[in-house]
Amino acid sequence: MDSCLFCKIIAGQIPSDKVYEDDRCYAFRDINPQAPVHILIVPKTHVADVAECTEKDSALAGHVLKVASELAKREGLTNGFRLVTNAGADACQSVKHFHVHLLGGRKMSEKMD
Ligand code: 5GP
Ligand code: ZN
Repeated sequence: MDSCLFCKIIAGQIPSDKVYEDDRCYAFRDINPQAPVHILIVPKTHVADVAECTEKDSALAGHVLKVASELAKREGLTNGFRLVTNAGADACQSVKHFHVHLLGGRKMSEKMD
């Protein structure tokens, strides 16, 4: 998708602090981190959000979660971590390309918003 920020990052047209890449997904550090570790894990295929994922995307979505949990290990988040995916306006999704936030390195708020 030509106008999508994350598609441009995946294509290398916009620089990013890459932490992981494979044939199906790309992971990089959030430009505005909300925790000591804040990584975005993004499928290479453009899907707007998790609500747009269909049955054919389920293996890809599972792979994104698996990579997120591997990266948590790699980042040393042995005391726990949080995965977040925002979908739509009420969740304040700002980039309309499905992504999972990996947050860790501090105690998270018990309130999830
Ligand atoms: P959302 O609000 O859609 O769930 O999350 C989008 C995330 O992308 C935000 O946490 C924001 O800080 C991050 N972000 C926006 N633009 C860029 C960018 O150009 N580079 C990086 N690394 N992160 C970005
Ligand atoms: Zn995209």
